[in-house]
Amino acid sequence: MRHALLPVLVLLGVLLGGCSNDETVFHTRFFALGTLIEISIYGANPTLAARASEQLEQDLLTLQTSWHAWQPGALSDINAQLASLQVFIPDPDMLPLLQEAHRLSKLSQGLFNPVIGQLIAQWGFHDNPLPIGTLPDSDSIAALVAQAPTVEDISLTDTQLATRNPAVRYDLGAFAKGYAIDRAIEKLREFGIENAIINAGGDLRAIGQHGDRPWRIGIRQPRKSGILASIEIDGDTSVFTSGDYERFFEVDGKRYHHIIDPRSGYPADRTISVTVVHDNAATADAAATALFVAGPESWVEIARSMHIGLVMLIDSNGVIHMNPAMQSRIHFEPDSTAEIKLSEPLS
Ligand code: ADP
Ligand code: MG
Repeated sequence: MRHALLPVLVLLGVLLGGCSNDETVFHTRFFALGTLIEISIYGANPTLAARASEQLEQDLLTLQTSWHAWQPGALSDINAQLASLQVFIPDPDMLPLLQEAHRLSKLSQGLFNPVIGQLIAQWGFHDNPLPIGTLPDSDSIAALVAQAPTVEDISLTDTQLATRNPAVRYDLGAFAKGYAIDRAIEKLREFGIENAIINAGGDLRAIGQHGDRPWRIGIRQPRKSGILASIEIDGDTSVFTSGDYERFFEVDGKRYHHIIDPRSGYPADRTISVTVVHDNAATADAAATALFVAGPESWVEIARSMHIGLVMLIDSNGVIHMNPAMQSRIHFEPDSTAEIKLSEPLS
């Protein structure tokens, strides 16, 4: 298989701390948004929890179609219309999602760039993988980079969309999962559920508490199996990781993964993983991708401009970079020997 996937991450994602009154726990899991979704609900009536989870599953399956960049649905319709370079009226349900993607892209100084869909397609990370052992055509990549599609090229009003840059195509893969989890959490709250965790392939948001204790979240080792560290969270917190091990292929022994630096058109190669802890999941998701691209030199600047307070970045030499607030929250496994480089405080 060309794109190596590591599904074990899902199982490692949440280390549920022991809970004495387990009868108050409701768990369900299903596939949506291209990954395994696990919902755990605490302290709620089981019938209500089951009803809420069913509703969430339906919603997430619907969003998966609407927000897909290249399979038929609302977002691929928008991409087709953008290609015409005419002003058009998109599906109004899509506007808040696009507005938030634009806002986060600007805060990230364009490193989270939701309009590089054509570049992602060139790399074969859509459903047309490159033939084994090949790389995309370097002239095509250079031509797309020269056209420099950014959200600034799109005029987005409360009803209309238009662009003059023919290279602009949406791909919300770096943030849609977070946005969907935020919506799912809102839905749970409408059901009156106050303690829950929604885990999508190791990226998650938790609200309330796990019984009488916080949740303990495992952060996986990027280059081997097992847990690198864990972090305790309660209240309302999201933990998102972007890693070069999620989707990649190798040519001549070099890894080409799915997080693309929009400035070069090639996979960002100074980072192997970034974990962001933040209240809202959409921001955490976009920021994990942006900081991955920013790399060990500029992650602090981008974290500040995105208003992120807790970051851990593992660079391509295996050095762990983090800010002091993150260091005081995270617990490394006793066998961890990695070098740690502390940044200045982020705020
Ligand atoms: P994952 O979804 O694997 O957890 P990310 O959240 O980092 O990882 O999203 C990666 C996906 O986002 C890619 O598969 C691609 O669709 C898209 N993408 C890649 N590079 C960028 C980028 N610089 N900005 C925005 N989207 C990107
Ligand atoms: Mg992301």
